[in-house]
Formats: sequence, C-alpha cells, structure tokens
Amino acid sequence: MADCVFCKIAQGQIPSEIVYEDDNVVAFRDINPQAKVHIIIVPKRHINPMNEIDEKQAKIMSDIFLAAKEIAKRQKIEQRGFRMIVNVGADSGQEIEHLHLHLLGGEKLGKLVG
Ligand code: AMP
Repeated sequence: MADCVFCKIAQGQIPSEIVYEDDNVVAFRDINPQAKVHIIIVPKRHINPMNEIDEKQAKIMSDIFLAAKEIAKRQKIEQRGFRMIVNVGADSGQEIEHLHLHLLGGEKLGKLVG
C-alpha cells in the first residue's frame, strides 16, 4: 500500500534494523522501543485490519507466530520469556494500519492482565 510505513520497510524503501525475514514475514526493531528487546513482526503483504483475516488468510498468523518463536531464539530471550501484543483499532491505540505483532522482552515486564 502506497502510504504505509510498514509496507515501505518491507520493500526496503525505508531503512530499518531487520532482524528476521522469510517469504511472507519481515521483522525489525521498533523505532521507539518499550523494552530492551522490542521487535515488530509484519506480513510482507499489506493486511489491515485484523478483522479482515478470514480462513484463507489465517496462515499468515501462524507464519507470524513461528517467526516470533525464531526471533525470540535469535535474541536469546526464549528461555526467560517475552510478551506478544497485537493492537487492533482505535481503542487499542493502534497507530499503523498494517497488521503487526509487537514482541517485547529482554527485561522483566510489568504484568498487564492475568
Ligand atoms: P501500534 O501502536 O501497535 O500501531 O504500533 C506501531 C509501532 O510502530 C510503534 O511502536 C512505533 O514506535 C513503531 N514504528 C513506527 N514507525 C516505525 C519505523 N519507521 N521503524 C520502526 N518502528 C516504527
């Protein structure tokens, strides 16, 4: 999508620190990190909102989660733990309208729920 920051990062049109890439997914460090490790994982193809995902497209969610698992390993935080967050829509404060998973860790995180 023409004006989407995450599409531009995925296409290499905006510089970013890429930490993972495969055929369907790219991941890079958040420009404004909220934890020692803060990585954004996005589908290469523009998808938003999450509500648009149907059964045919659902595989992208497993692609993203498998990427998160691999990234946690590469960042050496898979043993101590991490958090994954998807903001969806206005009430969540979602700023960028391209489906993305936040992966946070590398330090003790304050509990949000549970
Ligand atoms: P959200 O509020 O869930 O839409 O989160 C968007 C995230 O993208 C925020 O944490 C921003 O700091 C991050 N972000 C925005 N622009 C960039 C960029 N050019 N490179 C890396 N992260 C970005």
